[in-house]
Amino acid sequence: MRVAIIGAGQLGQMLALAGIPLGLQFRFLDRSADTPGGRVAPIVVGEFEDPAKLLALAADADVVTFDWENISASALAVLGNKVAIHPSPQALATSQDRLLEKQLFRQLNIPTPAFAAVDSREQLREATRSIGLPGVLKTRRLGYDGKGQFVLRSEGDIGKAWKALGAQPLIYEAFVKFTREVSVIGARSTGGEIAIYPLSANVHHNGILRHTTAPYSHRSLQQQAQRHLRRVLRHFDYAGVLTIEFFVVRGRLLANELAPRVHNSGHWTIEGAATSQFENHLRAILGWPLGSTEARGHSGMVNFIGTMPEAAPLLRQPNLHLHDYGKSPRANRKLGHCTVVERSAARRDARLRKLLK
Ligand code: AMP
Repeated sequence: MRVAIIGAGQLGQMLALAGIPLGLQFRFLDRSADTPGGRVAPIVVGEFEDPAKLLALAADADVVTFDWENISASALAVLGNKVAIHPSPQALATSQDRLLEKQLFRQLNIPTPAFAAVDSREQLREATRSIGLPGVLKTRRLGYDGKGQFVLRSEGDIGKAWKALGAQPLIYEAFVKFTREVSVIGARSTGGEIAIYPLSANVHHNGILRHTTAPYSHRSLQQQAQRHLRRVLRHFDYAGVLTIEFFVVRGRLLANELAPRVHNSGHWTIEGAATSQFENHLRAILGWPLGSTEARGHSGMVNFIGTMPEAAPLLRQPNLHLHDYGKSPRANRKLGHCTVVERSAARRDARLRKLLK
């Protein structure tokens, strides 16, 4: 079967690497051939929303899916009913707008930080009064890895925040004093089967994921996360992998955002789970049975951001799995990651501490 993927970044590359052993064939669409996906499968080079390129990508494909979710539903309309598209353009549209995302969580009774839409300086002032300070002002669209965000600590920051981000649709959120950040990743197949991974515990610096440990074993949080994830999956009649990121506050989950795709915090599943998130995404969108999401031991995943370390010293370490996406170095760019899998959480944590040094 043939899978067409919009976006040829590292997520696309890892999807193809998971699907090739299953006999699947892949084709990507991206602005450049020099991309991680382009190293493992043919690529249509062009703009994501160019109708001719989308048709070329989808020709003979059984399903179209995404490594990058910021494509408009109207651009995808050119594919009509010619080919299945998973996840649905509706799920994509919600995930593209932080306000729609938070409103959906609210509609589904999934707790979130307090938030308000902001379209003027006056609304920002009002939001800081009703929600309080500190708070985070975020662009509603196209923000990722901490981009398009401004933390306001006092009234004096209102002008600065407005100057930095104003004149586009924004959302103001309460600044959450969380004890931990976790994400839940799960797959739902076209037939409605659902499989959910154990929670991942995530550490971000400057809005970018630095490292993840999993499974994060906490019965009540796992149950809450599964309940929330199932609601979102069913709401969209979703097919594929979906991720929700949460803040943990006093034993409760507050939803921060959702990603309608495989996720960086699930890279540990390649070596640390019975079936990787990438394989389960493919199984889900093709209507195949889902694989077990059970963890194999205790995993730690470290992102390489801005520079790739020398490979040899890492490869000398036992049970270390190195992934180099082959991207050129740039500040704050995710270039690769490594995962260690250990028999106990204590051993995993000790190794992670050494790696992070
Ligand atoms: P985001 O792009 O919304 O995922 O934000 C990136 C990171 O910024 C999050 O993982 C948090 O570490 C931090 N962050 C975002 N929103 C908030 C918030 N409302 N309160 C506290 N920290 C936040």
